[in-house]
Amino acid sequence: MKKSICLLPGDGIGPEIIAQGVKVLEATAEKFGHEFTFETALIGGAAIDGAGDPLPEATVSKCRGADAIYLGAVGGPKWDNLTPELRPEKGLLRIRKELGLFANLRPAMLLPELAGACLLRSDIAAKGLDLLVVRELTGDVYFGEPRGIETRDGLRTGYNTMIYNEEEIRRIAWVAFETARKRRNKVCSVEKSNVLECSRLWKEVVMEMHREYADVELSHMYVDNAAMQLVRDPSQFDVILTGNIFGDILSDEASVITGSLGMLPSASTGAEGPGLFEPIHGSAPDIAGQDVANPLATILSAAMMLRLGFDMAEEADLIEKAVRKALADGYRTADIMEPGKDLLGCKSMGDKVVERL
Ligand code: ATP
Ligand code: MG
Repeated sequence: MKKSICLLPGDGIGPEIIAQGVKVLEATAEKFGHEFTFETALIGGAAIDGAGDPLPEATVSKCRGADAIYLGAVGGPKWDNLTPELRPEKGLLRIRKELGLFANLRPAMLLPELAGACLLRSDIAAKGLDLLVVRELTGDVYFGEPRGIETRDGLRTGYNTMIYNEEEIRRIAWVAFETARKRRNKVCSVEKSNVLECSRLWKEVVMEMHREYADVELSHMYVDNAAMQLVRDPSQFDVILTGNIFGDILSDEASVITGSLGMLPSASTGAEGPGLFEPIHGSAPDIAGQDVANPLATILSAAMMLRLGFDMAEEADLIEKAVRKALADGYRTADIMEPGKDLLGCKSMGDKVVERL
């Protein structure tokens, strides 16, 4: 199969980790007889420096023309003092909006090879952790109108609006149910319907959608309880379906309990057009350019690209297996280093994965 991939390496460790992901994609293409072509474009701080805009028009059109977008990370201290519209992070927010990427998929998994790094009690960690947060990305209190800060009765008053219409809820619920069918067939919808009207509608619409997905087990949980259950017993979850703000908080919580920021991939997808695949971590300016970053989150994001973007499940499985084999063989980057293991740099870790493919 022929596929074109737009590379957005970005800032900090972005270029180093994307280079490792590209190596893995090239090796996978060769093995399965696919043809992947790559085109690089500017985003974030690199784009501010190169084109005066964190998301130049040329980048948007290259992304639109591609079958998938593969992003490293954006941002760094160099650009921290710019006006809000000129921040590197704006580039990322704008590309998601431009491409209508309303669904953010963030798996949190604990590979048995790395159980030692997990922040959970060992008896809980032993039950394993393999869940996926499906977070709505373009609505909710983050975008709702009206919003503002004004003086009311002589007091400065800040307000935002939590808002979802049924169509927005249906399309994200659809992503969750469809994804659950490819996993363990369970969806837990997380909201706060005991106090919020927006959540009450959310729950209602999710239950309506569920009629088309009777084979998927659906449960409902208030967000406060979900935050607790994630730490108490994450093995109860398969797919967590939730809105923008609850998803922001829960997906960070779910990823940090695995204890390995440098290991976790993510995908953002829309109704049509290319999806965007990136590691969940940031640009790590403190270690940029030193060849010490962990490339595995980025490599696992390539696996998500193949599975979700290109329907290449077998190819994705193989990449994931190669990553686990490299870990089982004792190779570690600095962030996941344990006594008695072999310490590798970013590039060598990429090589080990390619060899195991
Ligand atoms: P952002 O604001 O972009 O979400 P952040 O500033 O919160 O990101 P990161 O840039 O992800 O955080 O870095 C947090 C810490 O984790 C840093 O010390 C960084 O070096 C480390 N880190 C992040 N990614 C990796 C990686 N792939 N390999 C090794 N260390 C990493
Ligand atoms: Mg940061």
